[in-house]
Amino acid sequence: MSELMNIDKTYIANTYARFPVEIVSGKGSLLYSPEGKRYIDMGSGIGVTAFGTGDDAWKEAVVAQLGKVQHTSNLYYTEPCAMLAKLLCERTGMKKVFFGNSGAEANECAIKAARKYASEKKGPEYHTIVTLKNSFHGRTLTTLAATGQEHYHELFQPLTPGFAYADADDPEGLRKLALEVKAAAVMVECIQGEGGVRVIDGDFLRKTAEFCREQDILLIVDEVQTGNGRTGQLYSYMNFGIAPDIVSTAKGLGGGLPLGACLLGEKVQDVFHPGDHGSTFGGNPVCCAGALSVMQRLDDAFLAEVRAKGDFIRSALVGAPGVEYVSGLGLMVGVKTIKSAAEVVAKCNEKGVLCLTAKDKVRLLPALNIPMELLEEAVAVLKDVCGED
Ligand SMILES: *Cc1c(COP(=O)(O)O)cnc(C)c1O
Repeated sequence: MSELMNIDKTYIANTYARFPVEIVSGKGSLLYSPEGKRYIDMGSGIGVTAFGTGDDAWKEAVVAQLGKVQHTSNLYYTEPCAMLAKLLCERTGMKKVFFGNSGAEANECAIKAARKYASEKKGPEYHTIVTLKNSFHGRTLTTLAATGQEHYHELFQPLTPGFAYADADDPEGLRKLALEVKAAAVMVECIQGEGGVRVIDGDFLRKTAEFCREQDILLIVDEVQTGNGRTGQLYSYMNFGIAPDIVSTAKGLGGGLPLGACLLGEKVQDVFHPGDHGSTFGGNPVCCAGALSVMQRLDDAFLAEVRAKGDFIRSALVGAPGVEYVSGLGLMVGVKTIKSAAEVVAKCNEKGVLCLTAKDKVRLLPALNIPMELLEEAVAVLKDVCGED
């Protein structure tokens, strides 16, 4: 272990099991250690650096804004914040945006919006949010409560009350539960990321969306990981023909700077009044300038390339020795390997390819603009590692 790793181990709270890798610099989909070891980045900081490390256009936008003003608070108007909200609404048909700094904060806003809407419209007993088993919605006490995995809950009781968990393969069961608990909203990830890159059945999503519309129960889609082009559509719900009332997103939105957004649709666009919600850092102009540079480039031609690159990964790995199956959509890929995912990722790291895990799978979330040569090289390494004895 290096000197730096020792200092980190001594002084950083013991919440992360870091890989024995230090990164000092990078460009695009390549990262470098202090000794100059080259890594192909197949994780992009957990789906955050949408256009890779130090992307020129993103950096130019960020640096230009840094040269003007880095923070104002939400007491004043700034251009990047307003223009990003406009772009997000125009591209989704949503009506208004609340900016925070993370996925958890975007989900907190979604939950507050849903509770206020339902309690004003139907009464305060309509406050429960139904989420799916095996979901992941964040680490705050409320978004942990939303997360449908008991092992995350155990040590932190009591959590925020008012959540109930449905099976993702049983639309009838979800309906029953939602009516029984007087649900304010149903909240789903269309592809469960941390839960093992599990694509939720389209039929389940459409039936659930229809039920929500009939009952005036809000549909919240958590696009924190799946959003901003990751699945080959701007937002993953667009793959399934459903229309959410609220969309939360973060990770790739800022291209590497902390930014989360909660998009409010027609029903909830006016639910908040001044004082109901807020965030000191939310909508920071530097982060929003970076996000504008990301979002402006996610056009149809670019998204088609994301899908093609995802197809390439699938065609290379499906049926390969040591690979059981491949899940996901676009450039959000889960690989169920015969070896443990942890072993595969450790070996890939040694061979200069940084991958992630999600539950029992190897998870790939490369930059959306990863060059084909690097993608081919990384997939070849992964394939070798999966297949070797
Ligand atoms: C990562 C993630 C979150 C939490 O985001 P943070 O920025 O870590 O708070 C929430 N929901 C989903 C689906 C995620 O993947």
